[in-house]
Amino acid sequence: MAGILYIVATPIGNLGDMTYRAVETLRQVARIACEDTRQTRKLLDHFGISAPMVSYHEHNEAERSAELLDLVEAGESVALVSDAGTPLISDPGYRLVRGAVERGIAVVPVPGVSAVVAALSASGLPSDAFRFCGFFPRKQGERRRLLESLAKEEATLGFYEAPHRIVETLRDVEETLGDPPVVVARELTKLHEEFLRGRASEVRAALGRRDSVRGEMTVLVGKSERKAESAETVEEMVARLERAGLSKMDAIKAAARERGLPKRDVYKLFEKD
Ligand code: SAM
Repeated sequence: MAGILYIVATPIGNLGDMTYRAVETLRQVARIACEDTRQTRKLLDHFGISAPMVSYHEHNEAERSAELLDLVEAGESVALVSDAGTPLISDPGYRLVRGAVERGIAVVPVPGVSAVVAALSASGLPSDAFRFCGFFPRKQGERRRLLESLAKEEATLGFYEAPHRIVETLRDVEETLGDPPVVVARELTKLHEEFLRGRASEVRAALGRRDSVRGEMTVLVGKSERKAESAETVEEMVARLERAGLSKMDAIKAAARERGLPKRDVYKLFEKD
């Protein structure tokens, strides 16, 4: 009978966040696949776990997946962990899980911490719907294009970012999304855990005043007013401008300018009036 592939979440800083079930699972499996064996060794030693480790990372995913799945098919159980948090969430593992599903192998999650969920839960931003976007692209052009493509997104956005790019990235958020509310969650679950809340420009200024910005960071972006405004139709915009005191003609001209539309197209919308 085939074994089981367990996907085991581990702490993102505070070892107290390791679950009982994670410890039990890692104690019983034949092999633990991990990104960095030295990093995972520390965790295993702390919890007295001695299962053999095998490295599994983005450079050997394809061949390692096949080997590990052969082992599971031969009846052994394997656990996948990442350096921190939940595997596959901006971490390796997709090929392995995909392969297991294709081969009909049971995949069992052993859930625990993920930085983006921990950050969201304490952020104070709307949490009814959120969209996790992984790491921000490193290049500014790609980052801005991604942000622009998300301008109409209603859900709170979640990203991972490196400390040396955070100030630059918050400027891009401010300039592409109309200075939305953001939360930067730094060093979650660790001694220097910190939440910076405010408009993108305010959080950027606060971080920019520091001598150095360090630590692990998760960035959440709430819906901006500009996005809410752009969700209104051109007709609604004209009506709003009229209510604000503009004549119909001036409101049409202003709405056309704001939306980058030819004036005649906006006039046409009101021809029946
Ligand atoms: N799989 C992990 C998870 O479930 O959270 C994420 C792995 S990803 C390679 C690492 C990134 O997650 C870091 O660069 C940082 O952006 C974020 N992160 C990890 N630990 C964090 C922490 N303690 N506080 C804030 N963000 C953290």
